Amino acid sequence: MKKYLKIFLFGTFIAFLLSGCATVPTQENIATYSIGGVAYYPLASLCDLYGVDMQFDTFLRTAVLSKNALHVSLRVGDALVLVNDNIKQLNWPIDIYQGAIVVPRQFKEQVFDFLFKPPVLTYRRPTGAKIKLRKVVIDAGHGGNDPGAIGRGGLREKDVNLDVAKRLSVLLQAAGVQTVLTRSSDKFIPLSIRVDIANRSGADLFISIHSNANPSRSLSGFEVYYVATSVSDSERAILTARKSALNLKNAVFASNALDLRTIVWDMIYTNNRVESIGLSRWICKIMDSNIDANILGVKSSRFQVLKGIRMPGVLIEIGFLSNSNEERLLKGSAYRQKLAEGILEGIRNYSFDMALVEAGN
Ligand SMILES: [Zn+2]
Repeated sequence: MKKYLKIFLFGTFIAFLLSGCATVPTQENIATYSIGGVAYYPLASLCDLYGVDMQFDTFLRTAVLSKNALHVSLRVGDALVLVNDNIKQLNWPIDIYQGAIVVPRQFKEQVFDFLFKPPVLTYRRPTGAKIKLRKVVIDAGHGGNDPGAIGRGGLREKDVNLDVAKRLSVLLQAAGVQTVLTRSSDKFIPLSIRVDIANRSGADLFISIHSNANPSRSLSGFEVYYVATSVSDSERAILTARKSALNLKNAVFASNALDLRTIVWDMIYTNNRVESIGLSRWICKIMDSNIDANILGVKSSRFQVLKGIRMPGVLIEIGFLSNSNEERLLKGSAYRQKLAEGILEGIRNYSFDMALVEAGN
């Protein structure tokens, strides 16, 4: 084994001499090696920088990188890597330089910058302030004796929703964001309880995951909903008035408080709605390049669960179980992972400005 390794290292060394490698410090003070024109990074330095734990098996020349619930397995000389249980194909293999494992730029970008990224997700509020995304509520639709839609192949919506929700939760946690799942098992949770969980959580965003069904079996695709202006301003004022009258016993202050409450509620409601449009737009934009499915786009709806939440939120219909091709795709873990990764990237790129442009304000 030792002899083999020596020959291997010597061989790689010669290969480097021939390819003319150079060491250039990057902004992050990590050395970069150019191997055959491709930028490579020392794996150990990346692990240090991103707080990733590395276990190396010298005999098999394999390494497992771990952070939170995320595990990435790789082997020297191989361009295939395992992300949890999903295979990813790199364009260049993992290599060895000066006795240390080095990974191509693509690996740094897709694994470290995308999955192990230390700076947590941030987004800009309507006020212009850039804040750290702290907590996200993930709502897996249906559950228990409510299976949701059922595909002809027998795939049940409640199961797909929960699996994608859990995958998204793992990815968000790996990006340093806390997650709250309205359900983490096959359990029936009424909509009002889901709304309650969301509102009590103090989360920044709400993501509800559903799968679609339609009598037309040819219909397929991915779509994102934000809440429609379900009640008119006057209706909302009456609703607020009713609530305020119940809450405020002191009649002297009731009328002033009532006006203020209406105004504040309107401001929050409008901001949340515009933020939800921005988030919807980004999730669709990212998903367009992440999956092959039709992107049916951003729509508004009076979904009960979206109406009750007091934070920006979207309801994602990840695909049609009534379409046999999409049911087959949704059965596979690779497709579910792509969906979760696309939603994560949508959140990462989430921009309030985009919503303003789209809403025509
Ligand atoms: Zn559903």
